[in-house]
Amino acid sequence: MAQENPNRFSDWLLLARKQAPILYSRARDWVDAVREEPSLIWRTPAVRYAVYGLAGVIVLSGAMRLMRAFVPPPPKGAQAAATSGDFHVVCTDPECETHFVIHRPFGFDDFPVSCPTCRKHSGAQARRCDSLTCRGRWVAPVSVDHTWKCARCGRRIE
Ligand SMILES: [Zn+2]
Ligand SMILES: [Zn+2]
Repeated sequence: MAQENPNRFSDWLLLARKQAPILYSRARDWVDAVREEPSLIWRTPAVRYAVYGLAGVIVLSGAMRLMRAFVPPPPKGAQAAATSGDFHVVCTDPECETHFVIHRPFGFDDFPVSCPTCRKHSGAQARRCDSLTCRGRWVAPVSVDHTWKCARCGRRIE
C-alpha cells in the first residue's frame, strides 16, 4: 500500500484524507482539554511558536518602521539632475563691494546683475582670488591687457 512510502501527490491526498478525521478528533480533544485547563493553550508548542512568530513579525515591522522614521526622506526632485546652480557675484562699486549669491540656470552669463545692497546694476560674476592679500576672497575680475586680474590686488585670475 502507498501508505508506507507516499511519493505521489494523490497518495499524499489519500493519506491526508485518512488522517483528517484523526487530526480533527485530536483537535477536538485538545479544545476540550483546554476548556478544562486553559493554561494548556500556552503549553501547546504549536500555539506557543505561532505566538512567538507573530510577536517576532510585529516587533520586526515596528523596528523597520522606526528605522524608516529616522531616515530623512529624500529632498524633492532629488532624482532629477540639477539644471541650475549658485553664482557668486561681487558688486564692482568700490563703495559697496557686496558679495552675494544668485541662483540661475547653468550657463547664465547675463552680467552685470543688480546689487541687493546699492541697487546699482554693478554685480559682476565673482572669482576666488587666492593671493596673500585676498586669501580666497570672492572678487570681481577686471580685464587688463586681455587678461583677467583681481580688482583688489591685481593678481592674475585664470
Ligand atoms: Zn553694490
Ligand atoms: Zn586679489
